[in-house]
Amino acid sequence: MRKYVIMGVQGSGKGTQATMLAEAFDLVHVSVGDIFRWHVQNHTKLGAQVRRTMAGGDLVGDDLVESVVRTRLDQHDWNYGFVIDGFPRNPAQAEFFLESYDIDGVIVLEMPDAEVERRVLSRRLCSQCGLDYNLIAHRPEEPDTCDVCGGRLVQRPDDNPEALRQRLDDYHRSTAPVIEIFQRKEYVVRIDATRSRDDVFHDICRQLDLPLDR
Ligand code: AMP
Repeated sequence: MRKYVIMGVQGSGKGTQATMLAEAFDLVHVSVGDIFRWHVQNHTKLGAQVRRTMAGGDLVGDDLVESVVRTRLDQHDWNYGFVIDGFPRNPAQAEFFLESYDIDGVIVLEMPDAEVERRVLSRRLCSQCGLDYNLIAHRPEEPDTCDVCGGRLVQRPDDNPEALRQRLDDYHRSTAPVIEIFQRKEYVVRIDATRSRDDVFHDICRQLDLPLDR
């Protein structure tokens, strides 16, 4: 049984690495943000409770988040373990988590702010089919035009320097104390997330003593 938390700023490849870990080691990938988005899209009672908070970019209250995490993990469909992303986001959530579950490792994907800015500000989205582009790593063949549907490529409204600075400041302010709590229990592995996705994945496996030959 393997139970991991993965942390990292937006654009650090957190979702990608969580998915790769889940596939390679039969873990259940729990994304708290995805659970909330599902509820909003499906107009549930919980969705109605969190919709405004999420749209404003604020954090949902701890009680609600903790009950969502507990309900999800109480399904016990994670025979081989889980990797949870987007949680915990503050010390209270971290303490709740440590009281309820024993964790085998906390993966912290590290990326300098300048690199996050470079990546996020070069991100483009097709306004028609929603496909992701990146003007550095995945350029469209014709400028500003989707290769697949010909739609116009646009920037997400919150991918601008001011909003990004706010998100980065929030991330550093709220997650630094969380990492400190985990570090006291010696759970933390720090990973240089500026490398290719495979190199990052191999480093995570190496540092967590996970077999790479599967
Ligand atoms: P994410 O996809 O992880 O960026 O989460 C999307 C949104 O869901 C956040 O902006 C918050 O409103 C909410 N959310 C997700 N995880 C948490 C959490 N651990 N604590 C509070 N709010 C959360």
